[in-house]
Amino acid sequence: MEKQEMVDSEALYRRGVETGFTEPPPRKVMSPLIDVHTHAGVGSDTPQLLAAAQLYHVARLVTIAALQESLELAGRYPGRTVPAATLLYEHRQEADRFAAENIELLQAGEAAGLRVVKFWFKPPFNVRMNLKLDDRRLDPIFAEMERLRLVALVHIADPDIWWIKYYSDRSIYDTKEVTYLQIEHRLSANPGVPFILAHFGGDPEHLDHLDRLLSTYPNLYLDTSATKWIVRELGRQREAAREFCQRWSGRLLFGTDQVVINHSEPARYTSRYWIHQVFWETDIVCPLPIADPDSEGQPLIRGLDLPAEVLAAIYHDNAVRVLRLPDV
Ligand SMILES: [Zn+2]
Repeated sequence: MEKQEMVDSEALYRRGVETGFTEPPPRKVMSPLIDVHTHAGVGSDTPQLLAAAQLYHVARLVTIAALQESLELAGRYPGRTVPAATLLYEHRQEADRFAAENIELLQAGEAAGLRVVKFWFKPPFNVRMNLKLDDRRLDPIFAEMERLRLVALVHIADPDIWWIKYYSDRSIYDTKEVTYLQIEHRLSANPGVPFILAHFGGDPEHLDHLDRLLSTYPNLYLDTSATKWIVRELGRQREAAREFCQRWSGRLLFGTDQVVINHSEPARYTSRYWIHQVFWETDIVCPLPIADPDSEGQPLIRGLDLPAEVLAAIYHDNAVRVLRLPDV
C-alpha cells in the first residue's frame, strides 16, 4: 500500500479560517453523508444549516423537533430531512393516558415517515420529570416502537467534568455510573428496538465502558455528535479512539448535534462540519476553531485519520441500515 501523505495542518487550518469554512477539503470517501443528529425548526435558520450540509456532502439530516414541526420540515425539504420527534410528557403522572397519547403520536408519526424518537434523558431531565428510561410507564411506548420499527436516539449522559461542575450534589443527582443503569435496563428489555446512544454513548472519556456496552447489547449504536466534547476526548486518546472506531465501525453513526438558531453567525454550521471532516478523515493537529468551555487550556483538534471503509460505514452505510432509509 502506498503511504498516505500527512496533512499540512497549518495550511489546512488557515484555509478553513480564511474561507469561513466554506471550501471543504476533498473528501476521503465518495458516499454522501447522513447526519443522524440535528435540531432544526421551521421558523429558524434551517436553510443555512442545509446549505452548509450540502457543501459538505451531507445528503440527509435527521431533524429533531416536536412531531408536527419535524414532519413539516420533511415536507418542505423532500429527501433532505428525516423526521425525528420527542414524546409528550405532560401527562406522565397518569400512566394510561401517557401511554395512549404517545402511542397515538408514534402511530401518526410512523404513517407520515417518522423514523426516530429522541429521548433527552440526561440527569436534569431525570430529576425534573422524576422519570428514568427504565420506568414502567415507558414500557408500552417502547413496545409500540418495536412494533413500528422506530429507532430510539437517547442522550443519557454528559461529560465527566459536568458531574464535578453541575451534578455533584448526591442528594439530587446520581453518579454517572448509576445514571447508566436506566439505559442498560431498557436495552435488555427491548432488544428489538435499535438504540442510538448520542455523543459517543455519553462516555467518550471511557472507551472501555463503551466496549462493554456494545459487546453486551447488540441493539446498541453510538452517534458521533457533540463536536467539542468528542473532538476533545477522542483526540486526547487518538490511538485508542482510532482502534475503537475500527473495531466498532458497524455500530457508529455520524451525527453532529448541529442546533439551528435564529440569526446564526456566518460560520456556525460550516465550521462544525469542517471540524468533523478533518477530525475523522485526517491527522491534522490544529486549534479548535470554536469555543470549548470545558477544555483545560487551548482546545485542539487531533485528527483520527480513519480508513476510508470505516468512514463509509460511519458516514452512510450504518444509517441507511439502522434507520431503514432509501439509499442515497
Ligand atoms: Zn442533540
